[in-house]
Amino acid sequence: MHPIAILGAGLAGLSAAQALIAGGREVRLFDKGRAAGGRLATRRIEHAGESHRFDHGAQYLRAERPGFAQLLEAAGTLPWPDPKRRVAAPGMSALGRHMAQGLELQTGRHVAALQAGADGWMVAHLDAALVRPGRPLPAVEPTLDGPFSAVLVTFPAEQAMALLPPHMSQPLAAIQYAPCWTVMAAFPQRLDLPDTLRYHGPIGWAARDSAKPGRDATQANWVIQADPDFSREHLEAAPEAVIAALLAALPAAAPLFAVAHRWRFSLLEVALGQACLWDGALGLGYASDGCLAGRAESAWESGQALAQRVLGA
Ligand SMILES: Cc1cc2nc3c(=O)[nH]c(=O)nc-3n(C[C@H](O)[C@H](O)[C@H](O)COP(=O)(O)OP(=O)(O)OC[C@H]3O[C@@H](n4cnc5c(N)ncnc54)[C@H](O)[C@@H]3O)c2cc1C
Repeated sequence: MHPIAILGAGLAGLSAAQALIAGGREVRLFDKGRAAGGRLATRRIEHAGESHRFDHGAQYLRAERPGFAQLLEAAGTLPWPDPKRRVAAPGMSALGRHMAQGLELQTGRHVAALQAGADGWMVAHLDAALVRPGRPLPAVEPTLDGPFSAVLVTFPAEQAMALLPPHMSQPLAAIQYAPCWTVMAAFPQRLDLPDTLRYHGPIGWAARDSAKPGRDATQANWVIQADPDFSREHLEAAPEAVIAALLAALPAAAPLFAVAHRWRFSLLEVALGQACLWDGALGLGYASDGCLAGRAESAWESGQALAQRVLGA
């Protein structure tokens, strides 16, 4: 039997990969990012000879059910900011790295198309560094990998729809995410604020990232997320304007540096309402947080559900 291709190595893709391997199947993963983890992301910024880390995607993880709780335990996550919420150390991306151990993963590859061949699916992918968001794909010959007995797509819905046939892409059109502008700022000294803030002017959530366990507590690093309304209204704003607006809402001295990141797909607003999509006849599946709820645990559960459908088939 040919291996299974998993497109996307965020929590949903990694979860499906682990469950399929446990079920005796061979898998290969492709992701356009530099590492596994997707929106469980940590950015490292060098400034004045020091390295600063920021969790600019998911802030903390909460397990409502035993499966995800076991994963968080095995990955060595630590409680923060209270016993029910957990973070990976030294950054949230450590959970993706933990899950990707031993998996056959190609990073930095933008998957552009799927081709149905006589012997199975072929995955067409190209150097992600050549792809500019919102622009047409560059005119380069893609690399073709395969054949695969099945392909599981785990991108946010809008990015997945182009790869899937209409009877699978149409239901995905219902899934909606709010964007989120996120500012990473390092201050010269500790801010006189609680470690976490919610709904403060245009800020939806802000956290003293350097207070999380396993971080450099001598630094004063903050992650500041705009609320969905601000993010939507300022979607095309210049990063400098977003930084100025969010920092103005905090009683803080000028930062050492501040960088903004725009997430087009952040807080899930409308879910698909089923754990995954699977067409056994075609050997095509879809999983992501968008299937169930906008939480890391839901992405993991969606990946598990899709793997069970594949193994059942
Ligand atoms: C700012 C922010 C804050 C959040 N806070 C929390 C929180 O505190 N707690 C919580 O539980 N959840 C939080 N979440 C949600 C959580 O991060 C997600 O639910 C979860 O990580 C989604 O996993 P996924 O695998 O479905 O998608 P993703 O993590 O998005 O994975 C999809 C992967 O597909 C890849 N990809 C996309 N297109 C292509 C392509 N064409 N070719 C190749 N690869 C591609 C991407 O690089 C990515 O790695 C937050 C999300 C954001 C953005």
